[in-house]
Amino acid sequence: MYDFLIIGAGSAGCSIAHFLQQNGKKVAVMDREGIAAGASGAAGAFLSPLPGKQNPYNTFVNDALDFSMDFYQKLLPEALDKKGVLRVAADNFKQEKLKNNAVAYDYFDADKLQNISKNFREIDGYFYENAAVLDPLKICNKLLEGCDFYTRDVRELTFENGFYILEDIKAKNIILAQGVSNSLVEIPYMQISPIFGLRVDVKTTTNIPCNIHKSISVSTNKQDGTVSIGATQERHDSSKMECLTTCDKCAFYVNSEEVQIKTLLNQADELIELENLEVVKVYKGARASIKSYFPVIGKIVDYEKSLQIYPSIKNGTKIPINSLLYYPNLYVINALGSRGFVFGPYLAKILSENIINDTQIPKELSTQKLFYKMARSKSH
Ligand SMILES: Cc1cc2nc3c(=O)[nH]c(=O)nc-3n(C[C@H](O)[C@H](O)[C@H](O)COP(=O)(O)OP(=O)(O)OC[C@H]3O[C@@H](n4cnc5c(N)ncnc54)[C@H](O)[C@@H]3O)c2cc1C
Repeated sequence: MYDFLIIGAGSAGCSIAHFLQQNGKKVAVMDREGIAAGASGAAGAFLSPLPGKQNPYNTFVNDALDFSMDFYQKLLPEALDKKGVLRVAADNFKQEKLKNNAVAYDYFDADKLQNISKNFREIDGYFYENAAVLDPLKICNKLLEGCDFYTRDVRELTFENGFYILEDIKAKNIILAQGVSNSLVEIPYMQISPIFGLRVDVKTTTNIPCNIHKSISVSTNKQDGTVSIGATQERHDSSKMECLTTCDKCAFYVNSEEVQIKTLLNQADELIELENLEVVKVYKGARASIKSYFPVIGKIVDYEKSLQIYPSIKNGTKIPINSLLYYPNLYVINALGSRGFVFGPYLAKILSENIINDTQIPKELSTQKLFYKMARSKSH
């Protein structure tokens, strides 16, 4: 019998498992593939600020970064290389945005960079100190210490007499942390789209003094001797839709693996010359993204039942969130997008406090916000 059973052992599932276990709860985690075998294993995994004029989203990202960086440094410092990031202006992130922003930086011109390393190409950029690259597998394993882990493919949820029953296992509560996989219950207001991607780890004799980011990132030399280069953002070939949202390692990218690796290496080479380069491993995964950008956490609202009882919600009637209908003892943590390791611990802290102390979840992260949005939209 567990207090909490978490479905999905990525950054989201492992982080919430850790925070609940640390609060004295008995926790089990299940994943059909293993620990950090989905998007989390493919992640770079870079932790870096989001520059630009202050707005609600980059404030959230940068708050999460501050919290999570500190958290990882205490949790497992040997899984983290904190050497900052040099951001180089790109088409989708212009110089102005880097210059006029809420995050402190140092500007490095091309001469200064040449003095740091002769391998830098003719680039200039903005250096942010609070940035790192981490080892996702080591972090996820560490987060699961003190929790039980089962390799299982969960096909359905059965709730009977106040408990969820999965074969020989009973749990009082379930938390869905499924990433891009089909949700085990209907959450129509949380439309997850997969953004597939690839990262390569390489060996090089070049010393890379910090992480570098333009449209892709090149990591500093990590403690395991490799350098991560990532990541591509790929569409799925829609003529081969069969595994659109269920396969975390989809074979049907529009561009082949070879093309993506070549693109990554070429883009890395525009930033810094990597001598004696050798590709050692390729990682693939799919980020769970959502239109509203913000991740989603909290109790899962039963869309159909809530609207059956309160049809006037569709016309804008405000019903207190406690009066909506929810699946029993069922929570979600998902839609971490491209910053799953920045968000994981921060969201887990907020969600665990909500579960244990009934503190409020910020509106922009809540299931209720998305529920109301869909219920009130004209098409429904
Ligand atoms: C190529 C690439 C590069 C990235 N780079 C970065 C980066 O630099 N920095 C960063 O912070 N983030 C990065 N990300 C994003 C980050 O990886 C994700 O946001 C994060 O991993 C999402 O974690 P998750 O736990 O929600 O999902 P996942 O890691 O995908 O975990 C979900 C798990 O649920 C399991 N599961 C689903 N359904 C079931 C079921 N029914 N039964 C059993 N198990 C189930 C799956 O097997 C999977 O392991 C990158 C992602 C990709 C793909």
